[in-house]
Amino acid sequence: MNMFSTPHQGSFQQLEKLGQGTYATVYKGRNRQTNEFVALKEIHLDCEEGAPSTAIREISLMKGLTHENILSLQDVVNVEDKLVLVFEYMDKDLRSYMDAQGHPLDIMTIKSFTHQLLRGIYFCHDNGIMHRDLKPQNLLIDQNRCLKLADFGLARAFGIPISTFSNEVVTLWYRAPDVLLGSNTYNTNIDIWSVGCIMAEMLTGRPLFAGTTNEDQLQEIFDVLGTPTELTWPGVSQLPQYRTNFPLYTPQNLQHIMPSLDPLGADLLGCMLQLNPELRISAADALQHSCCYSRTPLTRQLWP
Ligand code: AMP
Repeated sequence: MNMFSTPHQGSFQQLEKLGQGTYATVYKGRNRQTNEFVALKEIHLDCEEGAPSTAIREISLMKGLTHENILSLQDVVNVEDKLVLVFEYMDKDLRSYMDAQGHPLDIMTIKSFTHQLLRGIYFCHDNGIMHRDLKPQNLLIDQNRCLKLADFGLARAFGIPISTFSNEVVTLWYRAPDVLLGSNTYNTNIDIWSVGCIMAEMLTGRPLFAGTTNEDQLQEIFDVLGTPTELTWPGVSQLPQYRTNFPLYTPQNLQHIMPSLDPLGADLLGCMLQLNPELRISAADALQHSCCYSRTPLTRQLWP
């Protein structure tokens, strides 16, 4: 079965540019048939090779992922040297939402966004897909403050990003220490690390670990969470980027850094920001954490 729609130049009217992502340029568009707005994500392909078959396989998997907290991929169009992914249109990403507020988000919004984020991630992990590059820029928010994850599956299709196709440096701020240390056996809980960083950023209005290089990013993390040792993280010293001369920091109390966090929230955050990936909470368990658990999550107050 051919996963692509017939290249039909006239199906979508291309409107203004919305942003530049890791893999693509994103435009606002309008479906000429339904008049609905869409987001057109144009992935530029290597002219010689066209769309790599692994990428096509991964993207076709994404088409089957339907969940209220996952941005829905409506169509894939292959035009000349471009692959155009047609997504539902959303109002803002979390980065611009936070910037527009100009101050840390209120606690109920943080709780709702964290919960929706975990639900989306749980759904993907349950389907054997990890994101690998979660950050506020690829969490999209609509007018009803429904949060959806974008770019799921793209990292598997195109590899963990090092630079964008326009050679901008990709942020390391949300990257798990195991990935930074060069582990190649990381698993789905690298996404949970990113959720912890994003939750903390919503609370303070500032990125929790804003490193500029791989080494600097690790140092920022260890400064807050303590430098790992063989005792706290067996095997850490065998990882390729581990250095015996890392400065020795002791862990700080997260509630001191984020005073607005209640004890349950601090406990959940601590479980997500575990340096040792073996000890990091899974999305399924995070959703069962007493600070997050609710059977009607989007309509009831989640946390005290
Ligand atoms: P991304 O490649 O997903 O990082 O997208 C780059 C930027 O384009 C994002 O930060 C958003 O501001 C914007 N964007 C991406 N997808 C959408 C969408 N479905 N609706 C509206 N804006 C989007």
